[in-house]
Amino acid sequence: MKIVRLCAILALGVAFALAFADAAENKEPKEAKCCVKAEKKGEKCDHVCCLEAAKESKKCEKCGGKN
Ligand SMILES: [Zn+2]
Ligand SMILES: [Zn+2]
Repeated sequence: MKIVRLCAILALGVAFALAFADAAENKEPKEAKCCVKAEKKGEKCDHVCCLEAAKESKKCEKCGGKN
């Protein structure tokens, strides 16, 4: 019985670790693809929506960015 309990605890721990990793990833701000592309060229994205978001020092959510 002890081994079964240990396995259950281990499984729970792994599930929690995965859940936390997921949450941490989702919280991180993500740049929109168009802005990443422009940045690679050494330019700034010229989308109006992205510029508006940048004014508030945010990532453009319309283009797939996350804040
Ligand atoms: Zn953009
Ligand atoms: Zn945009």
